[in-house]
Amino acid sequence: MGTETRSVNVGDRTIGGGAPVLVQSMTSTATADVEATLAQVERLVEAGCEMVRVAVPDDEALHALERLKSRIAVPLVADIHFDYRLALGALDRGVDKIRINPGNIGARERSTEIFKHAVRRNTAVRVGVNSGSLERHLLEKHGHPCADALVESALTHIDHARAEGVEKLVVSIKSSRVGETIEACRKLAAATDTPQHIGITEAGSVAYGSIKSAVGLGVLLLDGIGDTIRVSLTGDPVAEIGVAYNILKAAEVRIVTPEIISCPTCGRMQTDMARVAAAVEKRLAGVNLPIRVAVMGCVVNGPGEAREADVGIAGGKGFGLLFRKGVPLRRVGEKEMVDALMNEIDRIAGDEIQNG
Ligand code: SF4
Repeated sequence: MGTETRSVNVGDRTIGGGAPVLVQSMTSTATADVEATLAQVERLVEAGCEMVRVAVPDDEALHALERLKSRIAVPLVADIHFDYRLALGALDRGVDKIRINPGNIGARERSTEIFKHAVRRNTAVRVGVNSGSLERHLLEKHGHPCADALVESALTHIDHARAEGVEKLVVSIKSSRVGETIEACRKLAAATDTPQHIGITEAGSVAYGSIKSAVGLGVLLLDGIGDTIRVSLTGDPVAEIGVAYNILKAAEVRIVTPEIISCPTCGRMQTDMARVAAAVEKRLAGVNLPIRVAVMGCVVNGPGEAREADVGIAGGKGFGLLFRKGVPLRRVGEKEMVDALMNEIDRIAGDEIQNG
């Protein structure tokens, strides 16, 4: 399917227009605590976070923005609710993007002021609609928060922002219900070419929230919907980054780290391939190379998967058959399997570097 969206520059990054789906997150520290926030941002960026959002609930947080901005390497987004003056202040302090929900900013003129000022400052804006904070008249019209109400709210805000001249515009619709989010984002994609920030809001703990996010975001990404993603997990936001990249990888939308294809193993296996898979996964942790590595238990599916991967091994009785780019290379003893796989991966990495 795939949906074409406009391209929006945010700092030195691009959202939409076919750019790689950007991974972002939000700090959980008090924004006014500059050192604690910077320390968390550093860990987020180290994990691969490409844009960081901070909450701006009050003047203390607002006053911290300039110091944060000067010391953060990735684009900085200010998250504002309720008080339009905080949005104006954040724009004056040079953030790269602001996120507002016009539904809770108050009278329409206040959003108008924010949009006008964002245009003056050439700053990107995300209008973010959440099922938990829909406008009252839409709740009355639709009876309860639902996909149609969310889409109506988002489209109204998009029209408003565009009428005030906002070109650098991103939109999001989030619900804590997966089905509702998918329905709303699909309807929105059909109705506008505004790039979408997608996420399942309040997804929960790392274990369940990762699965819930993968279900919702996976469906959207496979539809070609989503220009930037945020996985919302309770706790340290650094965990969100790995999950986001794994979702992008599983959906084959953006692959920046190795994918290991390993079978669940069963009674047919005659060599401990689970140990080999675990050792290879450990050795590949932190490696930025988009390759597929197959570690398979036996001859049932092993040779087929190993042949399709960039590097693969299919287990036999005390040995494995090593493949590289579809070509069977040689038999490898159980003890050498991990090193043999890693050598082939190194060779492919070397080729990639040489070929640019
Ligand atoms: Fe079992 Fe072989 Fe399939 Fe692995 S590849 S699950 S060992 S049949």
